[in-house]
Parts: sequence; C-alpha cells; structure tokens
Amino acid sequence: MKRLSDGKKNLSNEIQRCKSHFEQLTIWWNPNFEKSNVSYLRSLWLHADYIHKECGKESIKAGKTTYVYTSPEAVLSDDMWRSMLIESSSFKLVVVDEAHMVINWVNVLEKSEPFREWFGRLGEIRSLIACPAHAITATASRASRRKLRKKLALVKFHEIVESPDRENIKLFVESIKMNEKISVTFSWLIDIVMDQAGECPRHIIFCPSIKLCSDVYFAFKVSLNECVNYIEMFHSCTTDQVKDAIREDMENKDGHIRVLIATSATGMGVNYKSVNNVIHYGPPKDLDGFIQQLGRAGRDDTQSYELLIYSSRHLRKLDTDMLDYAKNTETCRRKKMLESHNSVPSADLVKHLCSDVCDM
Ligand SMILES: [Zn+2]
Repeated sequence: MKRLSDGKKNLSNEIQRCKSHFEQLTIWWNPNFEKSNVSYLRSLWLHADYIHKECGKESIKAGKTTYVYTSPEAVLSDDMWRSMLIESSSFKLVVVDEAHMVINWVNVLEKSEPFREWFGRLGEIRSLIACPAHAITATASRASRRKLRKKLALVKFHEIVESPDRENIKLFVESIKMNEKISVTFSWLIDIVMDQAGECPRHIIFCPSIKLCSDVYFAFKVSLNECVNYIEMFHSCTTDQVKDAIREDMENKDGHIRVLIATSATGMGVNYKSVNNVIHYGPPKDLDGFIQQLGRAGRDDTQSYELLIYSSRHLRKLDTDMLDYAKNTETCRRKKMLESHNSVPSADLVKHLCSDVCDM
C-alpha cells in the first residue's frame, strides 16, 4: 500500500512508471473523476477512455485503449461489460485505487450509504481477468491489509508501506456530554464563521452518518443567519449537481465554502485546497477512515489541526483501535494512531505541535 497525497499527480507518476511494463492498464477509480482523468491522459497523447454507454467497446476489447477507467458498479453490474472482461485477453494489469474502500463498503452494506456496494464485490474482477493487480491506498492498518489481500485474492504479493503520519497536523480530542446540543458544541465555530465570514479558515466536519451530518448542518444553518452561504453539506444522497459544485469550490483555495459538513463520501481522490481544520463529530468506524479523513487538512503543508469530538453515544460499534484512540487521555495521540500501522511518530516533531496530550 502506498500513501498518495495528490491523486492526479501521483496517479500520473504511477502510470508513467507502469507504462514501460504494460501495454494496457485498467484503473478502478471514483466515477466522478473518470472524465477528468481521461481528459488529462488524453492531453498527454495517451489512449485513454472510461467505461460508459458510448465508449469504444471493441477498441477496449482489442487492447487498443491503453488506459481504461471504470468504477466497480459500471463494469460488474452490467452483463455486457462483464462478458467483455471475460472475452478480452488484452488486460495486463488491474489497478485498484482507494483500495481501502473494498473493505469499507462491505461494512457500509449493513448501514447507510449503499451507493457503492459494488466496491465490496470488486474481488470478482480477479476471477474475470487473469492478470496481476496493484492496490493503492493512503491508509491501511495491518488488519486492513490482511482483509484487502483476501478480498482481492492476492496470494503472491509484495507490500510497500509508508507511514501515514501527517506531521503538520496537530491532534486534539474532546469528549462531550451525551445530550449536549450540537449548537452548543460548535458555538465557537459558529461565532468564527459569523465574525469572519469569507475570511473564516476552511473547516471540514466529518460525521459518521447522513443523519448526524444533517443534524450538524441544520444546527449551523439555524444559527448562521445571513452567513449560511458559507456552509455546505455533502453525503452520498447529495445530488450530483450539488456535489460537482462543492468539489469545484473546494478545489479552489479562494472558494466560497468555509465549513463543509460531510460524510466519508466526500473527498476521495480530490485535493481540497486550504483546509486547515478537520473536525470529526463522532469517530469513523476505524482508524483507517480517521487517518484518511484527517489527511484532508494541511495539504498545503501549513500547520493544521484535527479535532475529534465525541460523546459516549458515538462510541458504539467502533473498531478497538479507534475506540482506544478516542478514549486515550495519557499517551501521545500520534503514537496511539500510528501503532496499528506499525509506525511511530518522528523524533523530530516538537511536542506542542504533536497532540493535546503531549502539550500537558
Ligand atoms: Zn505526541
């Protein structure tokens, strides 16, 4: 697994590296970015396409399209494309980007956000195409890597692992009373938005469910009055049109949105600009998701902050590692976070920029 900080740039590097070894490369990607990535490759005079109704099926089948982007649902849920995969012998490599989703969407099947259930069935592709697979993800603990190998049927494999640590992000945790009102919990941030309006530093508030996401959005909305335009909400049920508008705004460092309230559905494969504060209102299920989401902060290398806010009602059904991280009050939070990834904090990191525990 390899940590990637800028999807397009690093994907391009990966492609250039693989290009000399493979005649045809298949890339599994977030469907929202297929078009832009295909355009990017075409601008480099490379033969690229993504699977959709009007694309050149015969060209892909015959191996004339060097880079084929698709999403799991586009190809696995459609009989025509499934049979194309079986009949074609030209595929040389399957690349699974954001590979942690293969595990995560299996869990999601039991809960809300059912829109990517095919990610959980991506292992089927290995039985349809006989070629090597290359899985890339920013974060995968030892346990997740084990699950991923099983899901993708990777028997003979080579792992490249880098520390997922982001040293420019200071870590905070705050526990709150179970019934504390959301408007009270976030009163400090509501005040900042009202005082600073368009000059307010950019925040993303991650919530583990659409319900919580909506509750937080509503609490901000009723408090912000004329400043309500500085907040937005993004989850799997947000319309495509609104999703595109939010992405476009967030990829602009001078964009209008100052507080984005979102579930994990936001941010995959995109580089949101000038986000210096990530807040979790309730932890995600596991540390992989947590590390992935906090990594949305500080992409411009400026000092940034991650704050996990939780009450006891948010701690149900968490993985042990995530639960330990949330409840820890004595050990360096960074050390705690990195343990499950076989990694340790850098010895050079000054304590007051590490975590609130290290500050004490
Ligand atoms: Zn520390």
